[in-house]
Formats: sequence, C-alpha cells, structure tokens
Amino acid sequence: MKQRLLDLIAQNGPLSLAQFMSEALYHPTEGYYTTRVALGADGDFITAPEASQMFGEMVGLWAAQAWIEMGGPARVNLIELGPGSGAMMSDMLRAAKVMPAFQKALRVGLVETSAPLRSRQAHTLEGCGHDCTWFESLEHAFNGPSIIVGNEFIDCMPIRQFVRVQNSWRERVVGAREGRLVFGLVNDPLPSDALIPPPLRAAGDGAVAEIRPALPAFVNALAQRFKIDQGRALFFDYGAARTTGGDTFQALRAHASADPLDAPGLADLTAHVDFAELKRIAEAFDLDVAGPVTQQAWLNALGIQQRAAALQRAQPDQALRIGRQLNRLTAPDQMGELFHVICLSSPNLPPAFGFGEQKLSA
Ligand code: SAH
Repeated sequence: MKQRLLDLIAQNGPLSLAQFMSEALYHPTEGYYTTRVALGADGDFITAPEASQMFGEMVGLWAAQAWIEMGGPARVNLIELGPGSGAMMSDMLRAAKVMPAFQKALRVGLVETSAPLRSRQAHTLEGCGHDCTWFESLEHAFNGPSIIVGNEFIDCMPIRQFVRVQNSWRERVVGAREGRLVFGLVNDPLPSDALIPPPLRAAGDGAVAEIRPALPAFVNALAQRFKIDQGRALFFDYGAARTTGGDTFQALRAHASADPLDAPGLADLTAHVDFAELKRIAEAFDLDVAGPVTQQAWLNALGIQQRAAALQRAQPDQALRIGRQLNRLTAPDQMGELFHVICLSSPNLPPAFGFGEQKLSA
C-alpha cells in the first residue's frame, strides 16, 4: 500500500487527504475496511455498540418510537449504515420485540462495503428472526418508509483539510520525501473561500478547516429518499456541536493513536464530524433536523439509567461490569460528551424523540 501510494504521488503529484483516506480505507484489495475486521477488544477500536448491549437497545426503542411517529406504516425499512460487527442491529432487533407490531412491520437492510464485515454481520445476525439484505450504498437500499441509523459511519468519510496562511486558505496534502509519506501544503491558495464552512471563513493564520466532499451528496440521497417516502435518519459520531475548526485527522491502531501516514491500510483513519456543518447541509436540503445533542443526554432521555438498573437487578454478579459500561457510554470524560447525536427527518413528522422533553410512548 505504501509503495503504491508513493508511486501514485510520483506520477500524479501530492494527494488530497480525501484521496489518501479513500485509498487507505477503501482500496479494493488493500484498503483497511476491505481487508480487515478490526473492531472489538482484539482490534483497533471499540465503539459504543461493542462496549455495551444497552446502546443498541436504546436505538431499538428509539426506532420503535420513530415508527409510531411515522403513523405505524405496515412496512418499514430498518437500515443500518456501516454496521461493523452487527452488534447494534442485533441489540436493536431484540429490543424491538417489546413492540410486536413494529417487529412485524420491519424489513432489515444493511449498507456495508466491506466483504469480511458483511460475513461477520451475517454471523452475528443469524437467528435474529429477520431476513437481512445487504446493499453497497444507501441509494441501492429498499424503497419505502425508512428508519436509518449509523454509528461512527460519517467519521470515516474522507476529508479535505485547508490551513489559513497569510489570509488565504491552502490545502494540506500528502506528498513524498526520501521514500516516506509526508504532509505538505499546496503552493497556490484556494481561489475563494466557498469550500470553507462559513463560521471559519474569517479565522486567523494557522486555523485548520476540514470538509467532507462526499457529505452533501450523501445528505442529498437521504433528502431524495425522504421526499418520496417518510423517514428518519439517526447518526452518532464524535465531534463538536459547533464548527470549531482544528486538525482532527487521526489514525487508530490497536487502541492507540498512530501517525496517519505511517501504516496506510493497517490503521483506521477518521476525523471528527462537524455537527453544525452537517445540520447546515441537511437544512439546505429541506430536511428537518433535531439536535445535535450529546450522547449522554440522548441515552438518558431514552432511559439508559433505568435499563442499567434493571440489568443490574437481574444479574447482581454483573452489576459492576454493567455500571462500567454505563459510565463508558455516558460519562462526560468518556463517550458522553465527545459524541453527539443528530436526527434528519422528512418534513412534517412530529419532533424526534430524545432531543427534547417528550416522554417515550413505546
Ligand atoms: N457502526 C459500527 C462500525 C463502525 S466502523 C460500530 O459502531 O461498531 C465503520 C463501518 O462503516 C464499518 O462497518 C465499515 O466497513 C463501514 N463503512 C465505511 N465506509 C462505508 C461506506 N462508504 N459505505 C458503507 N459502509 C461503510
């Protein structure tokens, strides 16, 4: 992979971070996601659904509630984007059993590009009681009313980075020096600041702006879908509720942060999600937006404290472990405040649950 990237740079010049991320993560034979199943304790990172079954259960209850808010259609697609090990979908489907009519209406779709992860998901979802169908992208997934969920899906969408230098924006790129991959800045400044998120346009020297070139098209696909059939999409990810700027490009390998240029194809590459920018894009496409709110606030609204207490009563010997999981998901110094939740919906639905003061009817 490294040699291929060096050859590519020798031929075509430096790569944008987006090109670098696309190659490192999605190359058809050598990409990180194409070749590896790196989730979980023996992998590179642990996500909320891997940390505790309670996470997927809360998302499952939310989905049942969303179905009611949509008027309880006889058929509804439950589509997960980037399902990883399949744990979240499995926990969601178990929680959905509390509402048999919802469970009966469900049609399960999984959007996953990675072949090894598809087989892992199929294995996890054996015996879940639903037929599962896999798709290459959201555009290919079932038509009809849909509830769409994604945890840590947007953070791996490739980013471009721009650095403010002498009152202009210059792109940060990956080049080569003495057989090594190195960061550099394009000489020519951007001709305009139209690509830069509006709150950062007046930033001072040294400021870093990150954008996700594929995000508008992705949000457009959601908007298109929700124009034809009603639906809601719920996203969890790490990143701030406001546009803060800053370099958030990072690599994770074996649970430690690594140099993103060090081992392309062998490390997970991500960047924080700018929730304010996501909201701005979604509103520009006429989607209704709820949030962002912190993961802690959302999980508490869904009743995770009560769920943890019930699990602890049922398995007293596991009480400590369950308490640790709850802490991991909700504590401000863990995932509670770094992670945010946002809901994008077709217009004219009641307010989405978990983002305000409503009570659960599910
Ligand atoms: N949601 C899971 C996994 C997060 S890792 C969890 O929380 O544990 C990111 C997941 O998204 C992986 O399953 C990866 O293969 C998948 N993925 C990344 N980019 C994708 C894309 N463009 N289309 C579909 N799946 C993608």
